[in-house]
Amino acid sequence: MIYWDHAASTPPYDEVIQTMAEVMKKHYGNPSSIHSMGEDAAKLIKRAREVCASSLNVKPSEVILTSGATEGNNMAIKGAALQYESRGKHIITTRIEHPSVYDSCLALEKQGYEVTFLPVDGKGMVDPSELASAVRKDTILVSIMHVNNETGAVQPLAEIGHALKQANPLTVFHIDGVQGFGKLPVRLDEWKADLYTLSAHKIRGPKGTGVLYKREGIMLHPLLSGGKQESGLRAGTENIPGFVAMSKAMRMAAEQTDAFMKEVGALKAGLLAWIRNTPGLELNSFEEGAAHIVNVSFPGMKAEVLLHTLEEHGMLVSTKSACSSKTSEPSRVLLAMGRSVDAASSAIRISMGMTNTQQDLNKLQMALEAAVSRLQPLRQEGMK
Ligand code: PMP
Repeated sequence: MIYWDHAASTPPYDEVIQTMAEVMKKHYGNPSSIHSMGEDAAKLIKRAREVCASSLNVKPSEVILTSGATEGNNMAIKGAALQYESRGKHIITTRIEHPSVYDSCLALEKQGYEVTFLPVDGKGMVDPSELASAVRKDTILVSIMHVNNETGAVQPLAEIGHALKQANPLTVFHIDGVQGFGKLPVRLDEWKADLYTLSAHKIRGPKGTGVLYKREGIMLHPLLSGGKQESGLRAGTENIPGFVAMSKAMRMAAEQTDAFMKEVGALKAGLLAWIRNTPGLELNSFEEGAAHIVNVSFPGMKAEVLLHTLEEHGMLVSTKSACSSKTSEPSRVLLAMGRSVDAASSAIRISMGMTNTQQDLNKLQMALEAAVSRLQPLRQEGMK
């Protein structure tokens, strides 16, 4: 089987697996205990936090260790909304966010907040001037992703951050950075980011760990009641093996960003060219997007049927994102880009990593050709 689902999750580095096992075995003390094993565990977390911080070019005190990006995004959005509600109850996000952002905003709407969902253009891009005109005096939070998890579209964060802070310097700017970290340069200062979420299992780290960067001076209302871990923002005994292993994955991902862009970018360029030369396919990803995601529609086919046919040919791809693939609805992201219901229901996502090779790509192209010709009769039936 060849794995083409790196946007859903990635193969952990050997070092990550070894670290997890070693820390679990030797350092099982609770960092809140005041004996030597507790202190030892607390030191490991301190060191892990420093490594995470230096991979992001921020201060260790600005790093909150979490259980992943779903928690990070909930903590950022609901935590900021509750914290700053005396200033206003208006929030801005986009129509193409991951469910952990999108549904958090829908939940806040039910609690009396007002949410503006910005549209995107045909390439999935937000217009910074449209954001600027949506910002109001009572806008407390803007949440916009760096890289879209279904299409790879990269938002112009520097322009967005600049437009936002000019329109209202008090508005908190949150970025979901899950699909961007390790894939593209991260420039939190240039983007004027106040909050930034990432997840370790997307960068060959362990599942169930992540980071929420919180700029010094920004306050969040904690969502969990309990102990005073993570400066009182996240109650609960820390996942020490996970955090230590995540810090290693973050360091490696940050160091390998240039290589990732070059190597995976070459695979993407080849795949885009092949798709463009194959009749009947519609691209939903573009050259200017992130290197690792290619989304393509096969109008007239059902994405699930295509996925399973490709699996029979040894290729593991995905429909939409992993988090929404169990729903049968057409992709909300592709519909927001103006794609037809047919195109949005027949799209597959091919997401690559540095473990994929040119030979893998040749096999994928052959499998796609075989799958499409096998499904052609069904397709004509579906188009009637
Ligand atoms: N945001 C984006 C853009 C994602 O791709 C994902 C993972 N599908 C998440 C948030 C949620 O991350 P996690 O799996 O760590 O909860």
